Amino acid sequence: MPGPEHGPARSAAPGEEGGVAVDGCVFCAIGRGEADADLVAYRSGDVCVVPALLQRENNPGRTLVLPVPHVTGLDGTPPGLLREVFGVAARVVSAVREAYGAVGSTVVQNNTAPGQVLHHLHVSVVPRFEGDAFRIPEPGLSEAPREVRLARASALRRVLAREA
Ligand SMILES: [Zn+2]
Repeated sequence: MPGPEHGPARSAAPGEEGGVAVDGCVFCAIGRGEADADLVAYRSGDVCVVPALLQRENNPGRTLVLPVPHVTGLDGTPPGLLREVFGVAARVVSAVREAYGAVGSTVVQNNTAPGQVLHHLHVSVVPRFEGDAFRIPEPGLSEAPREVRLARASALRRVLAREA
C-alpha cells in the first residue's frame, strides 16, 4: 500500500522508476514501444533516443533523449534515472558530431516552461554548425518529413550501437 508520499494510488509498471505511464502522452507511448518504434535510435534500460519532430533548418538532427517513466521535470526525477538520461545525452552529444557532421551541440531542457506542450521530461540535443545563428527561444521550427527522421534515426543508430 503506497504511502502519501507516493501520490495517488496508481501502480507503476515493472522497471519504472518514479513515474507511471500517462494515457495520451506520446513520449510514454514511444518509451513503452507502443509508437514510433522505428524512430528509436537507441534504447538503454529506462531511456530512449529519437530524432525530434520539430526541426530548425540550420540545425538538422535535433534529437530527444527520453526517460521511459513519465516524469515531468529534473526536480521530480529520481537520481538513478537522471544519471541514465544525462549519461545517454552525453553519448548523443558525441554521436551527432559523427552522424550529422555537427561541430558541436547545444543541450536544452524545459521544466514546465511557458508554452511547453509536452510535459514528459525530454532533453534536446541540438547539433550546431558554423553560422547557424541558433538562439533560444527558437520560433523558426518546422516539421521534418518522416522519411527524413527515419534516415536520421538510422544514422544515429549506427553510431550509438557501437558501444554500450
Ligand atoms: Zn509520458
